[in-house]
Amino acid sequence: MIDTHMHGDSRSSEDFGEMYLSGIDTAITCAFYPYKLNNESTLLNHLERILNYDTKRAKKYGLDLKVALGIHPANTSVNPDLIYENLYKWIENKQIIAIGEIGLEDLTDSEIAIFKKQLDIGEETKTKVIVHTPRKNKKEVLKVIQDIVPQHIDPKLVVIDHINQNVAEDVIDKDYTLGLTVQPQKMDKEEAIAILDEYGFDKFLLNSDISNKPSDPLSVPKTVRELEKLGYKKTEIEKVAFKNAEKFFKI
Ligand SMILES: [Zn+2]
Repeated sequence: MIDTHMHGDSRSSEDFGEMYLSGIDTAITCAFYPYKLNNESTLLNHLERILNYDTKRAKKYGLDLKVALGIHPANTSVNPDLIYENLYKWIENKQIIAIGEIGLEDLTDSEIAIFKKQLDIGEETKTKVIVHTPRKNKKEVLKVIQDIVPQHIDPKLVVIDHINQNVAEDVIDKDYTLGLTVQPQKMDKEEAIAILDEYGFDKFLLNSDISNKPSDPLSVPKTVRELEKLGYKKTEIEKVAFKNAEKFFKI
């Protein structure tokens, strides 16, 4: 299985071991600095830590951590130029498989400018991007995201993440890949399964988004097992368990 969106830097090595033993071979760890940022070098340290330290820590427990780096909307208070420079370098050196997570939260000017620039870098380098949608005002913010994205990047390169039942219909007919985050206080496995049942398995990825917030490191295998128990076709389940992610991220 592949957990397509998590934050390994804020989780224990024991979580990595449990995930591996539960059938997760690969996880994509994304950038998000959960504390106050003093300056851009603090953010760069966070990103380099993910790349150089957490990947090795996970490997010891069997888990293959792929990396997505970028400036999360909550981290847009610093000068972004140093991070842009490094993004080009990491992409060129094939150290990251996507730019992410990026996106919009409060629709401030700096959030929007930094979001657009990172989409431009994705388009220029033909790199995938993982786009966060917020918990509050999801529908409104998703509308702004959908206005911006096609002006800057081919939607085929884009995952729109944290899709729920309220917004699935707004994006299902577009060329995006769609992330379903199964997480306490966000979406339970029943809601994820209801979305797959209604819209089909072809466009979706599953993830836990485990972070410093309430999380379940095993939410992807629990959802996959539930789909099996409910009798969904193996070929369909495999799409959301790993095949769609392998194809999209080329991993
Ligand atoms: Zn996240």
